[in-house]
Amino acid sequence: MAPTNKIQIYDTTLRDGCQSEDVSLTLEDKLEIARRLDALGVDYIEGGWPGSNERDAAFFTQIKRVKLHHARIAAFGATRRAGIKASADHNLSLILRANTPVACVVGKTWDMHVREALRIPLEENLEILHDTIAYLKKHVDEVIFDAEHFFDGYCLNREYALSCLKSVEDAGADLICLCDTNGGRLPHEVEAAVRAARQTLQASLGIHCHNDSEVAVANTIAGVRSGAVQIQGTINGFGERCGNANLVSIIANLQLKLGYNCVPAGRLKMLQETSMLVYELANVAPNPRQAYVGRSAFTHKAGLHVSGIRRNVKTYEHIDPAAVGNDRRVVLSELSGRANILYKTREFGLDTELNKQQVEALLDELKRLEGLGYTFDGADASFELLMLRTLGLATDHFNFVSFRVFDDKWHEDQAPFSEAVLVLEGPDGQRTRTSAIGNGPVNALDSALRRALTPYYPDLATMQLVDYKVRVLDNGAGTGARVRVLIESTDGSRRWGTVGVSANVVEASWQALLDSVEFKLHKDKAKPRKPGRSVRDYTRTNGIVTDGKGSGMRRSHGETPGSDGAADGRKPAAQPAKPRPRRGLETNSSGQA
Ligand SMILES: [Zn+2]
Repeated sequence: MAPTNKIQIYDTTLRDGCQSEDVSLTLEDKLEIARRLDALGVDYIEGGWPGSNERDAAFFTQIKRVKLHHARIAAFGATRRAGIKASADHNLSLILRANTPVACVVGKTWDMHVREALRIPLEENLEILHDTIAYLKKHVDEVIFDAEHFFDGYCLNREYALSCLKSVEDAGADLICLCDTNGGRLPHEVEAAVRAARQTLQASLGIHCHNDSEVAVANTIAGVRSGAVQIQGTINGFGERCGNANLVSIIANLQLKLGYNCVPAGRLKMLQETSMLVYELANVAPNPRQAYVGRSAFTHKAGLHVSGIRRNVKTYEHIDPAAVGNDRRVVLSELSGRANILYKTREFGLDTELNKQQVEALLDELKRLEGLGYTFDGADASFELLMLRTLGLATDHFNFVSFRVFDDKWHEDQAPFSEAVLVLEGPDGQRTRTSAIGNGPVNALDSALRRALTPYYPDLATMQLVDYKVRVLDNGAGTGARVRVLIESTDGSRRWGTVGVSANVVEASWQALLDSVEFKLHKDKAKPRKPGRSVRDYTRTNGIVTDGKGSGMRRSHGETPGSDGAADGRKPAAQPAKPRPRRGLETNSSGQA
């Protein structure tokens, strides 16, 4: 027997969500999202408007080949045009052709829209509503009516808005969904109007809100508390203008706080991954502050808070982050105290119980670096390495000797390119020199670094940079300003962030790059393997194009940057290998950003 507090989840990410100006999903994306929504346990997936474009029409053909376990697919459309029979309406015929178990049609319930948008008498709109629903009901198993602008209509002409709903109910609609299409209504207005509709009608009610007043989630909850049994919304609140009601937050609120049953209990923890999948496929950067599922949703920074959650997580968390598939994070800053440091050492799995002096040493180093502009909020990996270094637990996987970077631009209308020459001392003590070309200095250094280290540590080949951010720290210092570089990397199974700061953007990037590589080696507990050939040989035999005059390489027009660079005949810098200097010691030197 179905539980009485069941709320139907009707997802319209694939239709209303695609009205976002920055969201565009391919057919494949839509099919993948539909599979995930089904796995999450949503009840309805609105696939699109078959009358609006070919991609949506194709979706309805393709989705029939996908085995869905729970969700019903709905096709969307509008009521018939004025002056014709529903059976003669082209768009309605396309809904039928989609051949879905559910049809959802939108129609007018606000008198102003009937008069000014449709320009027909109010009575005629009632006929259109009735005729459309009755026609669809003959051909489709389940018919849902979306009452467009219902709440505005209800406020301005209550009697007419309710009479529209009555026509739809009389025609046999299975559910009437009340829409705040302009998103302008507040929760107390929604509550009163849903209650009035419930008193007037026998049909089941749904609620569909837009977020123009930033209360779409609250309005939806108000609708449910007044008797709506279906919620329509989108994952992450995607939608036109300010978006639709965010299903992620609504499901979590209704299920965790109000005891409603929206998705099967075990599936709630899929909310976070579903949210991320939709961001990823839509190619939209996730909102770190998004309630429940954002990266910062359970992130603690202030020392007092961290000391609180170490005693009892409920002191500063409204729910257990794991309930929605999220994680608790603790970040470090000058606001941090002993508690943050101790939390982090536990998180990083350091066996050593830190003594008072070690904690003080770490805090001092942290404060010193933050004074120089480092921030470890988005750079956990750099902090973990800093901790290991300060405690003397870091492993040296290689030693830096020197690098040199050249920027070249040969013609006004040609893109510049960069060449990096890097000297390192490998784990076997052998000094190696590699060079690489890139579309910029950081790209070239990155390639040269990997080229030097991959023969020793082949797994580095799986690693790539996924984000690179530069931020100017000294406002007003112009091109002499210090910059902070944040790099995010992945090896397919984890993501990590690293940071560098300098007045020289190449140096800041280099620090972040080195940390990124060192973190990967540290996490993999990488043991160097003996390279088959010496690294020095490797660089020399790799596609070098020189002009023979020691001035660099020739590069034909259109050649891909990143192909192997040149030995320029100059000897590698003859400095002894030395351990990496303490971070931040070079930041007073002048340079260019
Ligand atoms: Zn809508």
